[in-house]
Amino acid sequence: MTEKVVIVGSGPAGYTAAIYTARADLKPVMIEGMERGGQLMLTTDVENYPGFPDGIMGPEMMEGFRKQAERFNTRIMSSNVTKVDFSARPFKLWVDEDEYTADSVIISTGASARWLGIESETRLRGHGVSACATCDGFFFRDKEIAVIGGGDSAAEEALFLTKFASKVYVIHRRDELRASKIMAKRALEHDKIEMVWDTVVEEVLGDDVVTGLRIRNRVTDEVSELPVEGMFLAIGHAPNTKVFEGHIDLDDKGYILTGRNTMTSVPGVFAAGDVTDHVYRQAITAAGMGCQAAIDAERWLDEQEN
Ligand code: NDP
Repeated sequence: MTEKVVIVGSGPAGYTAAIYTARADLKPVMIEGMERGGQLMLTTDVENYPGFPDGIMGPEMMEGFRKQAERFNTRIMSSNVTKVDFSARPFKLWVDEDEYTADSVIISTGASARWLGIESETRLRGHGVSACATCDGFFFRDKEIAVIGGGDSAAEEALFLTKFASKVYVIHRRDELRASKIMAKRALEHDKIEMVWDTVVEEVLGDDVVTGLRIRNRVTDEVSELPVEGMFLAIGHAPNTKVFEGHIDLDDKGYILTGRNTMTSVPGVFAAGDVTDHVYRQAITAAGMGCQAAIDAERWLDEQEN
């Protein structure tokens, strides 16, 4: 059976697209991914989503989005799309051996944390190296740790980690934070947080677990060792578009290119949220784009019938 719309990926964009397409009676199928809910599942307090004056926890918010999508009978599959073929209609998508066909597709696969890309970082991942303070912070009670990055994520992760760690170094490659003023102020004023400016990590030290970092000051070129037991990456994200490479147009960083509305280079395939947006990357903007994609898909499907 050919579906009217298949939504790939969850998160604020995907669930919002599901709510809208379901309420437009398009009977959406959502292939939500093995790690449902997207990046908000890895965050704590969301204080900037309108409508929650006291804030809300990220995972709780995503559970609410999901329930709302289910309330209007979205069929949700907790698996990953492994292959697509957008060369002819209906479009084809596979989850391993299972094939889905769809008149329209909405892609909302989001973005994932970036890594430094050094061998010692990969080797010690899960042994002191992490990209998720919310997931792993608990293991660093009374320990000294480092957060890498200078954006809102770095500030947020550093602040969160102060709940456990005895000290949090924030290692940033420049001498000024990119984070918003309010987050930067909170981090800079926190007595457990120490900034390490103009510095990059050259090596994560330790055989089985992290024992320190070899760091280099980019201004003085001085190399030193920082004795920490954990390293948390907060250096931005990369879009989850591997499976779409060669099937729709992507920019040079792998983000999906869309035209005037949310339509991709393939008519009938739409994109919403962080997978197509490296500028705003907020839950509210992703949700807004999910709504746009749903309306765009609905109108496009109408046009095909008339
Ligand atoms: P950003 O892209 O904003 O920041 C990434 C940081 O990592 C920058 O400071 C960058 O340095 C640094 N960096 C990048 N690559 C490297 C590297 N290879 N080595 C060392 N440092 C590196 O990403 P974020 O994840 O912080 O934020 C993304 C978006 O999400 C932003 O729009 C942000 O506002 C939003 N956000 C909002 C939150 C909130 O409002 N509560 C919480 C978290 C994120 P440089 O500055 O020199 O480029």
